[in-house]
Amino acid sequence: MEIITAKNSGFCKGVRRAVNKALKALEQEDKGLYSLGPLVHNPQVVEWLAGKGLNKIKSLEGINKGIIIIRSHGEGLETFRKIEEKGLDFIDATCQRVKRLQELARGYYQNGYRVVIVGDRDHPEIKGVVSWTEGSALVIGGASEAERLAVHEESMVLLSQTTLPEEKLRSVEEVLKTKTNKLVTHNTICPATRLRQQAAVALAKKVDVMIVIGGYNSSNTQKLAQLCRQTGTLTYHIEQADELCLRWFDNINRVGVTAGASTPDWIIEEVVRTMEEWNDKKIPDSDSEEEKPLQEDSSPLKEPEGTAQEQDAQLTGVSDKETCTEPKELNQESEDENIEQERENVEVQLTENIVNLRKGEIIKGKVVEIRQDEVLVDVGGKSEGIIPLPELSRRRVENPREVVEIGDEIEVFVIRPENEDGNPILSKRRAERKQAWERLENAFEKQEEISAEVVEVVKGGLLVDVGVNGFVPASLVERGYVEDLEAYVGKNLRLKVIELDRNKNKVVLSRKAILDEEYENKKRETWDNLEEGQVVNGVVRRITDFGAFVDIGGVDGLLHVSEISWGRVDHPRSVLKVGQGIDVKVLGVNKEEGKVSLGLKQLQPNPWETASEKYKVGEIVEGKVLRIAPFGAFVEVEPGIEGLVHISQLADYHVAKPEDVVSVGEVIPVKILSVDDKAQRMSLSLREARGKNTGEQDEKDKEKETQPEDNKAAETGVKLGDLFSELFEENKVQENKD
Ligand code: SF4
Repeated sequence: MEIITAKNSGFCKGVRRAVNKALKALEQEDKGLYSLGPLVHNPQVVEWLAGKGLNKIKSLEGINKGIIIIRSHGEGLETFRKIEEKGLDFIDATCQRVKRLQELARGYYQNGYRVVIVGDRDHPEIKGVVSWTEGSALVIGGASEAERLAVHEESMVLLSQTTLPEEKLRSVEEVLKTKTNKLVTHNTICPATRLRQQAAVALAKKVDVMIVIGGYNSSNTQKLAQLCRQTGTLTYHIEQADELCLRWFDNINRVGVTAGASTPDWIIEEVVRTMEEWNDKKIPDSDSEEEKPLQEDSSPLKEPEGTAQEQDAQLTGVSDKETCTEPKELNQESEDENIEQERENVEVQLTENIVNLRKGEIIKGKVVEIRQDEVLVDVGGKSEGIIPLPELSRRRVENPREVVEIGDEIEVFVIRPENEDGNPILSKRRAERKQAWERLENAFEKQEEISAEVVEVVKGGLLVDVGVNGFVPASLVERGYVEDLEAYVGKNLRLKVIELDRNKNKVVLSRKAILDEEYENKKRETWDNLEEGQVVNGVVRRITDFGAFVDIGGVDGLLHVSEISWGRVDHPRSVLKVGQGIDVKVLGVNKEEGKVSLGLKQLQPNPWETASEKYKVGEIVEGKVLRIAPFGAFVEVEPGIEGLVHISQLADYHVAKPEDVVSVGEVIPVKILSVDDKAQRMSLSLREARGKNTGEQDEKDKEKETQPEDNKAAETGVKLGDLFSELFEENKVQENKD
């Protein structure tokens, strides 16, 4: 007979921790150590610990000193309150898994969720959890109970007893989806339980008989026995070796052994050793006399406790109390179907529905819990995946909530498919990094632009976050020079990858490349559409003495100083500023030479158009002397309208030089002698405006006959456009000299 022990069996982490804490306290403390109920659900272990001094008590009544050890199943809120009231010390040996279940229940309860727990309402673990919700949590045994629930809550959280088979949780989950608008499910089933269940089921299918060892009051052991029976294999639940019955192994080739989470190694070893000893013996015929003492020896059975045990017996027809009698026939048709169905369910739930994770792959998951130093993610696997805090983000994170929220769908990288507790270890940071490189490579290959936030200014440029660190040299931030790089920190920039080396972890990006490209495109478009007479919007890019260069869409046009205003403009800078946006008229386009001339004054009314209506001959107005020529003075009567006061009209006496009478900037009265709108000429007289000496004037008139040519020009009026042109030409010559 071959004896095979299941891979995962015996003490789980939580139980081992509780027992170790108790042993340590028993060694170090002499105050008296008490456990509220059995420390673990195994009477042999409880008895052994009692022998060392651990007192099992039912309540805190009458306990006024000593230390209370909180068992692995945990305790309710009231117990902790009572301990505090009594001023007792305590050692919290609550299993971390149970602790988490309690915290989830309390957290959701405090956030207004209806807490629903699938499990055994009489189990101490569940009683404790309910207490953390101030008694408000609903406990249900399975899907049929869930269906009967007459509640419809806005939001519900579904939790499970740590020893629950997963398929039960899922079936309840399906039902509850119809009873709330928002259902959050946390798979709080302990992996130790699941692993034991999986290993036990797998083993049960290979052997002829299964021996399940563990306390009758142990929920997880009961469930192990139940699952093994559901495979159709004859299964016996015992607490210790002396319950074994030789008869069970008659004509048996292979025996499987498994044990609940609160079963110590020494009991498992004893059971296996006993069977090994029998292995060497001839198994007696069932009718022989030899069987009787063996049957008696192996049947000092303790009464199984708990309803689950009875349920097992009903389901399979095999009672653990009947260990030394022939098990009831299992081949009855209906039971067979039942068992087959159950077996299929178990197989499907335990194997096929589970997502198998592979190291290095990136998968999607949903954030289901956020702890101080880790985040739990449901990735559809057997257990929730864990993202340790450093694996959450590339940046230093103090609180995981800076990065994720419950319910977030995220992508994670599988670092380890399973740790020792069965949880996958995941990394959001690595998933992002891997994806970032893929994105960058793709963008580089296709020359596509990406967007990235500027993280900080570093030597020579900007550091940007592109999933990995990217560098934008200062010279590639703008099309021109950038004085203050700090102004970019925190902003999102459109960038192009211009250099990429994954091995060297090097990413160089350019914003200028995009701006250059856009500029060139715009320039092409502008040239294609540019026509004389258009009014376009532009930005003043540069100002010189002779005008301003205006960007009208990738093309810089010249706005000459003479085209800025109808009035006199001393310097373009007195009217325009670099960066100023203005509308301008296209006066000329030379596509061959790439030159465009622009006008601003053309967009304003020309004052000469109404000059003759506004200024009547004989009228006296005030004007400002703009400049002085040898033949007279130019006087501005309003911006854009200048007239000439000929030297002969300056005074009623002979004037050798105009500056002897007037000076530039002086405001003087002038009489209007003539106005020519079309020619844009106006003749003025200072002499007549001030009151003339007619005699002297006659003299002057005579002299005028002999005046040089320029005076004649003045007599007929001066065409201002010609004079301006002269002056501009002079300016240009001067500029070229400069
Ligand atoms: S079975 Fe799991 S939950 Fe229960 S005590 Fe053990 S480790 Fe903790």
